[in-house]
Amino acid sequence: MTRPYQICTRCVMDTTDPDIQFDENGVCNHCREYDEVVRRRVFTGVEGVRNLEQIVNQIKGDGNGKQYDCVIGVSGGVDSTFVAYKAKQFGLRPLAVHLDNGWDSELAVRNIENALKKLDIDLYTLVLEWEEFKDLQLAFLKASTPIPRFLAIMQLSPLCGIPLPGSASSMLSQATIPAPRPIFHLPGLRGTLTGCTSRAFTNSSAQSH
Ligand SMILES: [Zn+2]
Repeated sequence: MTRPYQICTRCVMDTTDPDIQFDENGVCNHCREYDEVVRRRVFTGVEGVRNLEQIVNQIKGDGNGKQYDCVIGVSGGVDSTFVAYKAKQFGLRPLAVHLDNGWDSELAVRNIENALKKLDIDLYTLVLEWEEFKDLQLAFLKASTPIPRFLAIMQLSPLCGIPLPGSASSMLSQATIPAPRPIFHLPGLRGTLTGCTSRAFTNSSAQSH
């Protein structure tokens, strides 16, 4: 049976999403989930400052005696550059990791170099094998699962003995993005997920993930 067309009364999501659900006010489940995420995970004012200080202190404590106390992903964009700036401002000792997946622009690379030089933060650039990563990204798109950009940082972090990776995303602007189906964000699943997705959607014999 064809579903009648409906669009959310609050956002632009509509019945082209086969799993969308509307409440009695015509508000979609993505908007309701956004409200819930913001309620649980966005802290402002005094509470926000206190939570942040606690996290910073925990990172500093865990990183005692190590060369770096956290890993931050840097893309050359505003979000991750701001995180690098704030990390330094808080007195953290971050290792910046950049994932060169073949999409880098010269400007982005220059931004990274300039910002990290000014902030006196070491940079580790992970260069991916382009043909393999291209194949893998296509597989993840076909499977409608998150593209494994951050998996490399998650994999690198325990190798360095740095337990808490830092990444930049804005709950307020990005929590509205509908989650892909199925959702596999758990780090423990990454090896299995990446391998299975690759085997299911590529003909590649890629081995490095
Ligand atoms: Zn909506």
